[in-house]
Amino acid sequence: MIGKLLIANRGEIAVRIARTCRRLGIAAVAVHSDADAGAMHVAACDEAVRIGPAPATESYLRADAILEAARATGAEAVHPGYGFLSENAAFAEAVGAAGLIWVGPPPAAIRAMGLKDAAKARMQAAGVPVVPGYHGSEQDPRFLAGAAEEIGYPLLIKARAGGGGKGMRRVDDPADFEEALAGAASEARASFGDGAVLIEKYVSAPRHIEVQVFADMHGNCVHLFERDCSLQRRHQKVIEEAPAPGMTPEMRAEMGAAAVRAAQAVGYVGAGTVEFIADSSRGLRPDAFFFMEMNTRLQVEHPVTECVTGTDLVEWQLRVAVGEPLPKTQGALSLNGWAVEARLYAEDAAHDFRPATGRLAHLALPGDVRVDAGVRAGDAVTPFYDPMIAKLIAHGPTREAAFARLAAALDRTEVAGCVTNAGFLARLVRHPTVAAGDVDTGLIGRDAARLCADPVPDAAAWALAAVAALGLDRPGDAGPFAARDGWRAWGAATAGLRLDHEAHAGEVRLTREGDRWRAETPMGAATVAAETGPDGATRARIGARTVAARAVRAGDGLTLFLDGRTHRFRIPDPLARGAEAGPGDDRVCAPMPGLVKAVLVEAGATVEAGARLAVIEAMKMEHALRAPRAGVVAAVAAAAGDQVEDGALIVALAPEAEA
Ligand code: ADP
Repeated sequence: MIGKLLIANRGEIAVRIARTCRRLGIAAVAVHSDADAGAMHVAACDEAVRIGPAPATESYLRADAILEAARATGAEAVHPGYGFLSENAAFAEAVGAAGLIWVGPPPAAIRAMGLKDAAKARMQAAGVPVVPGYHGSEQDPRFLAGAAEEIGYPLLIKARAGGGGKGMRRVDDPADFEEALAGAASEARASFGDGAVLIEKYVSAPRHIEVQVFADMHGNCVHLFERDCSLQRRHQKVIEEAPAPGMTPEMRAEMGAAAVRAAQAVGYVGAGTVEFIADSSRGLRPDAFFFMEMNTRLQVEHPVTECVTGTDLVEWQLRVAVGEPLPKTQGALSLNGWAVEARLYAEDAAHDFRPATGRLAHLALPGDVRVDAGVRAGDAVTPFYDPMIAKLIAHGPTREAAFARLAAALDRTEVAGCVTNAGFLARLVRHPTVAAGDVDTGLIGRDAARLCADPVPDAAAWALAAVAALGLDRPGDAGPFAARDGWRAWGAATAGLRLDHEAHAGEVRLTREGDRWRAETPMGAATVAAETGPDGATRARIGARTVAARAVRAGDGLTLFLDGRTHRFRIPDPLARGAEAGPGDDRVCAPMPGLVKAVLVEAGATVEAGARLAVIEAMKMEHALRAPRAGVVAAVAAAAGDQVEDGALIVALAPEAEA
């Protein structure tokens, strides 16, 4: 076995490989960029070497720096993980030339599968069904338009060097072909330095079903069954499961055999994935699946296969790399239950999945499913790398059980400090069509509006957020932020502050009622109580119900985890309140306790946005309260000379519809 392995990667996959190393007694060497000096994967390894600045092109993609790190640490082998240099045949060769073991397929196999057009031609020759289309070298737009006519619409233009869905265009109408071709080619040139494309028939009711294959150096090749990765967003995988719903034994045998043929046709060794697209318009049928491409590395979604086959594929990779035979024969492999994986990303589903960054002020990942994480609480998600936080993998005896466990695990996932797709994922795995196993690659797109809409916090959530923001959930400890909010003493009868949420913004007024707080919130009234222990866990009472909750404050953000939902509030700086009030605000309140120096408007007055309404003196300074929007003054609730509480109503504007 290998004594010391260098892991040429970062994040969750580097951590995951290190875990297997530890179990097998292999010393693991991490490499890291400056941005990752304190990263989880560095801590997970026995030693670490800095390889350059944050940008991947200057660190994780630098073959020379990685080989130098291997030499300096005496590593005998290099595992590339996925992404970065994992499918770079020249790097694989350089590793071998340096006298190191490459934990991956032979460079020639990587090259054979590197370009989609050449790979398809090779597969066709090997008797593997391929998607009908054109994958020749002629790239003249008129010729390609003619080929498209023959193939028929709808079709897909794909960059032959493509990956990650880049350089891919679906075309439904011949009139759009020319423009789509130009777009795909220029995107491909920009991303891969190669503008050549192939054209494929767009398979109807497409399902992405891929087969895990494994080959050793002794001519053995097996498949470890299939994974269904049909739940995709813009051709990117979101949820992966094994086995594939609706798979029949006949089709599984056909696909497995085709995948093994594909691997053998290119002299494959190690772990690989043969990706097929299946036409599910008439159910899964052995004559309706087609080769798309082969990924010559470990896949992100390999854990679902590990769960249902009871294997450690990284261990298999390491064994095969040193010349051991495959640990199991085809006949010894069987499927056990169902597994499903969700990719937890720092991204904002409600805003077209824009990637998010930030320091993870709080990170609680469920303990009763498999979690492959790349970050810990306190780590930052930076703009330099893939914004994946973790993969959650649930395994159960049935599909229903696995999905239920994953849904529950997503509900318990708590991330504060940056937006994540956890809510989106939880809604997706509970989607009735998904639950029925009726998946296809268009499902997410068809129901995006419902899947992406974040839940709106109700009055109780607003009330709890306000109680936490003011530190009222920590009796005996007014809270570290209390001073900033003008909170003075535990036991006072009223308190209030302004909170902003994506959906609404406004004042929350709290009034003590026995051992609870009655709250007037932008979503109505609620009566709540909350007690937070030293571990930050909150026991919240809402009506007759007691629930576990958590509120995490970081910067001006307050993240409330309640009932499996994440609500992100912002606590605007009280001193800047007048200026920051959003549209739709009807109440202009005192930003802090103080003396009303002047009220400058009367009921009925028409005011412009930003107009001075009143002046409050506090902390020896005068603060103007300004109109948050243009409107009509409905009421004036204070007069010059009044001493007012923090949050007291000073001027109310008439609701917009009436103004
Ligand atoms: P990339 O390498 O850029 O990821 P792939 O060829 O693997 O591109 O395709 C990505 C996804 O695009 C597939 O998982 C599938 O959802 C969709 N797709 C690819 N080819 C077809 C096709 N011929 N018909 C329908 N959908 C397809």
